[in-house]
Amino acid sequence: MNGFQFELQRENGRARAGRFVTPHGAIDTPAFMAVGTLATVKALDPIDLRDMGAQMILGNAYHLHLRPGDELIRDFGGLHRFMGWDGPILTDSGGFQVFSLATLRTVDENGVEFQSHIDGSRRVFTPESVMGIERNLGADLIMQIDHVIPGQSDEATARDASERSIRWLERCVAELDRLRAGGPPPTTTIPSSPPLPGTVFPLPAPNHPQALFPIVQGGIHDHLRRDAARAILSRGDWPGFGIGGLSVGEAKPDMYRVLEGLDAELPPDRPRYLMGVGFPEDLVEGVRRGVDLFDCVAPTRMGRNGAAFTRDGRINIKRAEYRTDPRPLDDECDCAACKRFSRGYIRHLFTSDEILGLRLLSLHNVHFLVRLMREARDAIAGGGTRASFDAWSRNWLDRYHSRPATSE
Ligand SMILES: [Zn+2]
Repeated sequence: MNGFQFELQRENGRARAGRFVTPHGAIDTPAFMAVGTLATVKALDPIDLRDMGAQMILGNAYHLHLRPGDELIRDFGGLHRFMGWDGPILTDSGGFQVFSLATLRTVDENGVEFQSHIDGSRRVFTPESVMGIERNLGADLIMQIDHVIPGQSDEATARDASERSIRWLERCVAELDRLRAGGPPPTTTIPSSPPLPGTVFPLPAPNHPQALFPIVQGGIHDHLRRDAARAILSRGDWPGFGIGGLSVGEAKPDMYRVLEGLDAELPPDRPRYLMGVGFPEDLVEGVRRGVDLFDCVAPTRMGRNGAAFTRDGRINIKRAEYRTDPRPLDDECDCAACKRFSRGYIRHLFTSDEILGLRLLSLHNVHFLVRLMREARDAIAGGGTRASFDAWSRNWLDRYHSRPATSE
């Protein structure tokens, strides 16, 4: 499919191991994608991400449109060149951020009007303008804009948002086709930056193929999820599917049930991306229910607050008990932080407000999730029986939950 291909290599119960090829390289799934909201995975260098085995990262259309501007990034040759990451990138459309960060938003059939959370300026996101932004950014995988609602929304609200999201998907496809055919960008985008004399700026805009993922909505209502999946499938042959609107306040059993329902609806030979879900236990539970791709800001955001994932649950390194602890954050972790530094030293960095502390915990937490998905993949694909993956995941969850998370 135009530079994109997903190979389903092994199924083990509902769990799946696969390989997703993109114009900037392949991703072995299941996989965790680190989030680089503002064209940087906070506190980490792309070299760190490469070294830990991360294969694909995220950027965010909402944030990058507001600052520094998607036209500026296009003029630097696109997001890959701008941020110095030559592997696969996915950009979120910004739907979630419009609904969670921006103020004074109004939604109608045309799109969403909102105030920037940075300077209060009024902006409009439409399916057309968002495709223009994501094309300027030049990620490999791009998401449609969808109408995001709270996790516990009633059926009428969820149905309305889901059906609107599908109508917006049709407009995204039409606009992307128009832009691919060489059509001018939508008039809502700002004119490009003027070239600087004596330099090669602007660089050529990115022009590699991009794959558009639809987003299945429908809240916690099983029949709405099923209807949304079927409506989307009837509208085209998609390179993969986003599952949106989960981990937004609903109960965990509701999320698990929705995933199990969608596993039966979505085609097995396309990757499924569970958007914004990324705590270790959620990843394992998601893989058990047929999810291939995950992303979340949790590992870096929590790392900056002193929280570290370990195989025995979450710890907060600022607690006094770690002052004299010579062990690494996690005994079995092979990240650059755990190979060299003790809990006692990292606690000292945090209590002294040293920025190396934030960096080490961010690095460890992202590494932890990347490696967790590699281990899940090995358990699925490694020649084991169906029972072996089930046992691996149950053992992993039992151990992780055996230690109650410390207060943070
Ligand atoms: Zn580590």
